[in-house]
Amino acid sequence: MQRHRRKTAESSLPDRREALKGLPQVGRLLESRPLARLVPRLGGELLTTLVRREVARLRERIVSGQLERSALERAIRPRSIARSVEAAAATLLEPRPRCVINATGIVVHTNLGRSVLSAGAAAALAQTAQHYIDLEYDLDEGGRGSRLGHFDALMAELFPGAGFIVVNNNAAAIMLALRALARNKEVVISRGELVEIGGSFRVPDILAASGCKLREVGTTNKTRVSDYADAIGPRTGAILKVHTSNFKIVGFTDQPKIASLVRLARKSGKPLIVDWGSGDLVGLGPLGIHDEIPVREILAAGADLVTFSGDKLLGGPQAGFAVGQPELIAKLRKDPLARVCRLDRLLTAAVHATLTSYVRGTAFADVPTLRMLALPAAAIGRRAERVCKTVAAKIGTGARLEVIDGISKTGGGSSPTGERPTRLLAVSAPTGDAGRIEQGLRRGDPPLIGRLQGGKLLLDLRTVLPGQDKIVAACLIDAVRSLNGR
Ligand SMILES: *Cc1c(COP(=O)(O)O)cnc(C)c1O
Repeated sequence: MQRHRRKTAESSLPDRREALKGLPQVGRLLESRPLARLVPRLGGELLTTLVRREVARLRERIVSGQLERSALERAIRPRSIARSVEAAAATLLEPRPRCVINATGIVVHTNLGRSVLSAGAAAALAQTAQHYIDLEYDLDEGGRGSRLGHFDALMAELFPGAGFIVVNNNAAAIMLALRALARNKEVVISRGELVEIGGSFRVPDILAASGCKLREVGTTNKTRVSDYADAIGPRTGAILKVHTSNFKIVGFTDQPKIASLVRLARKSGKPLIVDWGSGDLVGLGPLGIHDEIPVREILAAGADLVTFSGDKLLGGPQAGFAVGQPELIAKLRKDPLARVCRLDRLLTAAVHATLTSYVRGTAFADVPTLRMLALPAAAIGRRAERVCKTVAAKIGTGARLEVIDGISKTGGGSSPTGERPTRLLAVSAPTGDAGRIEQGLRRGDPPLIGRLQGGKLLLDLRTVLPGQDKIVAACLIDAVRSLNGR
């Protein structure tokens, strides 16, 4: 076996040497018409790099014997090399991240970028991007202004009397709060709240990274106010309550109400910090989501500081808020970490525009995250029926489509039981291979993300943007047809 292989390798060696000699020179190729034509689009330098790389790749394939003589002749023509170079350039220069269609029904999908911005926020972002702005410039005084000052008026409407800071994300907000208020001290927290939240946010790790000592109390399923009280002493820096977000313990459980922790905090003179995660500003009760308490109510209950994300239920860009006692907020603003995690200028504009929707009272109409959550199942079902009809007319028996009842999820580590009834477009393949349709859609253009469950591909139009149903139908037709070899 081994002898034989060596022998064929030896016998083809002169052939390969010949082939290597036939490889065109990079300089010559660049002068050829098909490649010279690419200079205006790719620039000379990138073009040279890509041509060099393509020639090297051909050389490697010759040496390893992968390229037959007949194929070689075609592959070294300038026109073929130009085609390969164009394809390589397209992949290299393609916009990233790519826009995808979210048909998972998970509204705040962390892997898909959480919230889609409102039209106002997107416009503010684009506008700001192409101009100088008064980011830290006081136009009245002609001197240095404050980056956070842009939010003063809106935040005063939303949280009267409270101080605030807006940073990069909620992980930064909570870290800043812990560091500024309880560094080198103990932070008392229930064992039931030492959770990991999607996107590698682990409460004990954040505590440690903030320079605080974890003082865990109670048990996983039950923690009483007296457990907190027993742990509070001279070394205590703060009491921390964490919204357990994507995770819920049911059954024999008990965690103290915010109000009881507030009483304890007042009595002991320690600040109560509440990490309220998803940041509901309006109250989602009308949507049937009852386990999200609005931030304002947590503050009204007496929490000293509340932190939350900008891109979960609030529906804005990535950002983190800390809102609460002005004198505590002042400490956060003064901490050097505040500079490290300050909000970027484009996001400052997008956060501001998002907040205007809340102040104006139009959030449910403007903010896509809320608008999607508010969609009734019947309306989603009508859209699914239309897509179903369009696709069915085109694919014959290629796949079986039906519209069925299902559940959409809020997602993003927000209310763990935050589920909404929906209607799903369920796709099953006669070969039982819905997985291949799912793959075809995911790798298509635009990529369409659904979910596989029970051997079916489920598409939830709740999270499909208005006007994209037709694209969903077209993608589905393509995917089913290519599954069946056209
Ligand atoms: C999502 C979440 C975080 C992390 O927020 P980011 O904005 O992703 O940094 C922290 N705490 C809770 C309770 C959360 O739900």
